[in-house]
Amino acid sequence: MYEDEKLVCEDCGKEFTFTAGEQEFYAEKGLVNKPKRCPECRQARRKQHRKSRRMYDAVCSKCGAQTQVPFKPVPGREVYCKDCFKSINDDAPQDSSPADEE
Ligand SMILES: [Zn+2]
Ligand SMILES: [Zn+2]
Repeated sequence: MYEDEKLVCEDCGKEFTFTAGEQEFYAEKGLVNKPKRCPECRQARRKQHRKSRRMYDAVCSKCGAQTQVPFKPVPGREVYCKDCFKSINDDAPQDSSPADEE
């Protein structure tokens, strides 16, 4: 019941095929809009999106404030909110290694 359809990518202007299989997949997912972009552009956008938007909830190791960091917080690894990160970097000497232990 589905037939391959030729669509033109909104981003790069290339023609791409909206295959019968994809149409079926879209229908199953309840998506009514046809894809506007070719698979390559779609993937590129998705990647970009993920890169720029993915943030993880974390608690600042210094002040305990809720914050978000662009990497997955690892237990034991210190995470700082924007303010603390800034103040630490302002105070810190060039050498970031911890002070000598007593
Ligand atoms: Zn494209
Ligand atoms: Zn903080």
